[in-house]
Amino acid sequence: MELKLNFTDLKIQYKNLESEIKEAINKVLESTQFINGPQVKEIEEKIADYLGAKYAVGVSSGTDALLLSLMAIDLKEGDEVITTPFTFIATAEVISFLKAKPVFVDIDERTYNIDVTKIEEKITDRTRAIIPVHLYGQPADMDEIMAIAKKHNLFVIEDSAQAIGAKYKDKKVCSIGDMGCLSFFPSKNLGAYGDGGMVVTNNEEFYKKLLMLRNHGSEVRYKHKIIGINGRLDTIQAAILLVKLKYIDEWNRNRIKIANRYSENLSKYVITPYIKNDRVAVFHQYTIRSKERDELIKYLNSNGIPTAIHYPIPLHLQEAFQYLGYKEGDLPVSEKISKDVMSLPMFPEMSEEVQDLVINSIKDFYEKR
Ligand SMILES: *Cc1c(COP(=O)(O)O)cnc(C)c1O
Repeated sequence: MELKLNFTDLKIQYKNLESEIKEAINKVLESTQFINGPQVKEIEEKIADYLGAKYAVGVSSGTDALLLSLMAIDLKEGDEVITTPFTFIATAEVISFLKAKPVFVDIDERTYNIDVTKIEEKITDRTRAIIPVHLYGQPADMDEIMAIAKKHNLFVIEDSAQAIGAKYKDKKVCSIGDMGCLSFFPSKNLGAYGDGGMVVTNNEEFYKKLLMLRNHGSEVRYKHKIIGINGRLDTIQAAILLVKLKYIDEWNRNRIKIANRYSENLSKYVITPYIKNDRVAVFHQYTIRSKERDELIKYLNSNGIPTAIHYPIPLHLQEAFQYLGYKEGDLPVSEKISKDVMSLPMFPEMSEEVQDLVINSIKDFYEKR
């Protein structure tokens, strides 16, 4: 049998869970409680519990989780929010969407997460919040971030879209800041079968406000206290997530095992991920750096090995953020890293045999040079 290699493979997982998933979906179909069915509350409680937080609010996507968090702190026109330029656009897009200003702080060259030594110099009297991203599933430097936030009276919203289950010291990420945001985009470590997300918090006031914000600012039908949005999590997605949550630790363990095996075999050729020793990364992506990145990608792709770049253009240089006035050279580490990173196939069901195709192909590329 010829081995076919995908970048992520949602089919294997679906086949393994098919009967459980179909049963869960069927139950929702039979109940016809497509909006706010009991599965929504159930997955909120289970995820809050899993992360060691008091509350969780299911929402329509990871992007809406970030948006609703910023609405919960009443982010206003002209306010500033500090974040990383080396992330998916959603992290910063929601700041601009609310007419506030994203302020980008460069990244740490080893972890690719926000460089905590550069945050304070960007704080002004308009700064309201910091949004660290636990990139590729590695926790950001939360102790330092929380200390800066406390000193300057700022909110911390953890973009944990790539990091469900990741641990910072003795805590799971997403439960450390004022709020934490999850994405259930299908290819995330815990993926739904469509869009979905969640905001996690220990703060009862935020919890109550988030429940209203995601539901047109309403607690009681047709009575609207505040301006909100339609940002709910579908019952069907909640039912699917209830099935999948049982496996998240096993899947994350597999990702870690695969990542370690990649690193053992590849560190003499490329820069492999650097994980700080007081935290557990869950490898949403396995991302390496190579000076020959573009050639290596061509070589791997021509050998049937898919790759991806997370991310080719740092946000401060994106056309959509041109109005902020950044130019090339402003955030040199992000700019440098975006030119040599590439991600390798990574999914929990990846066999050693399939992984060896990737490893051997990279070896071939370097040994032929
Ligand atoms: C996926 C992702 C998001 C957005 O999540 P969606 O569910 O796709 O809206 C936000 N931030 C990061 C870092 C992500 O990886």
